[in-house]
Amino acid sequence: MRLVDTHAHLEELPDLELALAEARAAGVTDVIGMGVDGPTSRRVVAWAESRPGVWAAVGHHPLNQDGPDLDLLRELAARPRVVAIGEIGLDHEDEHRGPHAAQLEWFHACCRLAVEQGLPVCVHVRGSVREVYEALRDHPGITGVMHYWTLGWDWARRFLDLGMYLGFSGVLTRAGRQELREVARRVPDHRLLVETDAPWGTPRGRKGPMRPAWMVDTAKALAEIRGVDLARLAELERTNACRLFRRLKA
Ligand SMILES: [Zn+2]
Repeated sequence: MRLVDTHAHLEELPDLELALAEARAAGVTDVIGMGVDGPTSRRVVAWAESRPGVWAAVGHHPLNQDGPDLDLLRELAARPRVVAIGEIGLDHEDEHRGPHAAQLEWFHACCRLAVEQGLPVCVHVRGSVREVYEALRDHPGITGVMHYWTLGWDWARRFLDLGMYLGFSGVLTRAGRQELREVARRVPDHRLLVETDAPWGTPRGRKGPMRPAWMVDTAKALAEIRGVDLARLAELERTNACRLFRRLKA
């Protein structure tokens, strides 16, 4: 089994080497680390360039106080181990952070960069689903993944229609998530992805911060919901990850 963790925050893990070794042993052979600002984007690219199985996304999280360093992101995006622009998006639930108008401006700038570089986007949505949908619609040709998907089928269908993939996290393993399970059942084979968002998104039954190895729990839940075996689900997920993140190679 060679699953791809399509969204993790490597700089937040207490012991990166241990986390990667443990992930490989569990069947999660590749991990895409997110950049949330200039410094973390730089760092994740350095890790991707020095460690097999680690890939980088460079981006600018909506909860930053200042705008993105687009020259730096453009320079990093050209490196072969950079597979996406992310994490980017809109967050309207944390009122202490960047104003919504500024977030929208940064998001559009990063989407333009992604289209220009021919890279997919990893998109954060919180309290902002309509705004994110409308913004993505302004960028014809954009591809990417709606990371940590937790919403129902109506919105899922719209993002799928835009050409986006859905990233399922440990939330899928938790009790009382009927709407999300319904999405997991209905999403077409070729549009599903799995992720951890480590160190967040701990699955049901595990204790402590999330780690890439525990993504297997989510993959199992997804396989069970879809009525396929885990090996088949893993193969599908890897195929999808390699199709969307074109620079990701076996
Ligand atoms: Zn994230």
